[in-house]
Amino acid sequence: MNTNLSLPHVLILGCGFGGLAVARKLASAPVRITMIDKSNHHLFQPLLYQVATAGLAAPAIAAPVRSLLADQRNATSLMADAVAVDAARRVVTLDDGSEVTYDYLVMATGTTHSYFGNDAWEPYAPGLKNLSDAFIIRKRILLAYEHAERELDPVKRVPWLTFAVIGAGPTGVELAGTLAEIGRHTLRHDFRRIDTRQVRVMLLEGNDRVLGTYPEELSQKAREQLERIGVELHTGSRVTHIDAQGLKYQTASGEQTLEARTVVWAAGVAASPLAKTLGLPAEKYDRAGRVLVEPDLSAPGHPEIFVIGDLAGIQSDGKPVPGLGASAKQMGWCAAANLKRRLAGEATRPFHYADYGTLSPIGRKAAVAQIGKFKLSGTIAWLLWLFAHIYFLIGFRNRLMVMIDWAAAYFSFTRPARIVAGGDERATEDSA
Ligand SMILES: Cc1cc2nc3c(=O)[nH]c(=O)nc-3n(C[C@H](O)[C@H](O)[C@H](O)COP(=O)(O)OP(=O)(O)OC[C@H]3O[C@@H](n4cnc5c(N)ncnc54)[C@H](O)[C@@H]3O)c2cc1C
Repeated sequence: MNTNLSLPHVLILGCGFGGLAVARKLASAPVRITMIDKSNHHLFQPLLYQVATAGLAAPAIAAPVRSLLADQRNATSLMADAVAVDAARRVVTLDDGSEVTYDYLVMATGTTHSYFGNDAWEPYAPGLKNLSDAFIIRKRILLAYEHAERELDPVKRVPWLTFAVIGAGPTGVELAGTLAEIGRHTLRHDFRRIDTRQVRVMLLEGNDRVLGTYPEELSQKAREQLERIGVELHTGSRVTHIDAQGLKYQTASGEQTLEARTVVWAAGVAASPLAKTLGLPAEKYDRAGRVLVEPDLSAPGHPEIFVIGDLAGIQSDGKPVPGLGASAKQMGWCAAANLKRRLAGEATRPFHYADYGTLSPIGRKAAVAQIGKFKLSGTIAWLLWLFAHIYFLIGFRNRLMVMIDWAAAYFSFTRPARIVAGGDERATEDSA
């Protein structure tokens, strides 16, 4: 580790796509780097739904921060929750009350779930953001089938075999598609009393189409593929209540009730609360709490602080930069380059987002993709998604593990990580 205390101290908060990109780009810079993350691993979020649906085991998509930085002599890491930034004193406070000073700060703590003011729904409808969430969702899905098998009354069995996913963005679509495939294919031969092919997977969306950030034509293709897999799609359906029995939702024809024991929330995100502790004027945050950064990614009024990734609100070529792994990485590279320019007394440069396209999986051989002016769907889009995601996984071992698991799952329809152990007990009216 570089212990030369005379070197400027760069503190990076969050070892996601953005934070890790900054650390790597500063590997040969004359700085001391401390990376702080509340978890001990870097997570490849695009494949998190595969862990939540028992397709992949956690180590396939996560790598310890310490091993990622082991060979980088100017960097060290701390596992801690950063709770506040005091920009005037250039100090970050950690969860145990200790303080870490910095010369330059990079904030890359991403987003968290937003229940739009209905936080009481969270125990009944977990969101998917980190490995703990994925384990909770996986356990609830697998236990729902176990409860259904034990339930002798066919009427009472129905809610156990009804799964509701709220929000038809990329995460909701991939979860709903996979849930339908699990019932129809993976578990088909595993139970004796229940016919898992009778599973109901409901995807509820407040707006009038799925994958709303894609062009209309691809939204329509996604809808068709979801329906073919067996997902019941309800657009124009706004959820108004969630509890242990299921949920209520409002449609043009009135309020509907759905009994579903397994509900997953994929409807809203908000910026990490750390952003607000910067204490910027209200107009420097967007509605989701992201910092509206300067063109060079610095925080308004603080040239020594860079805010990147999902935590930053910025436009490129007149369009908002999307919250994606690729944009977080590109911001990380740009912030590192600008930090080096500051060290050298040079002017910083504005961030420009290079859009290489977006891909959304829906199920086996089902996906949509927009690459430049090309719009793709079905098997070709799915193959593109598959290879892109394996390629971008961190580390050779992870890529190999994922490829082997997927090859096996493809031919046999299995989901090898169907293990239930410890952790979250299902929220009931009494316990939540
Ligand atoms: C389920 C899911 C699927 C996705 N699928 C895709 C996809 O297919 N393609 C795509 O491009 N993008 C996808 N995304 C979006 C993409 O993952 C994000 O845009 C990207 O991870 C943002 O990077 P980031 O560095 O800003 O934040 P993150 O990658 O979220 O990293 C934030 C880090 O900060 C840490 N942290 C948070 N708060 C604190 C704190 N207070 N103190 C210390 N550490 C903290 C977290 O532990 C985490 O390691 C998906 C996201 C999710 C949740």
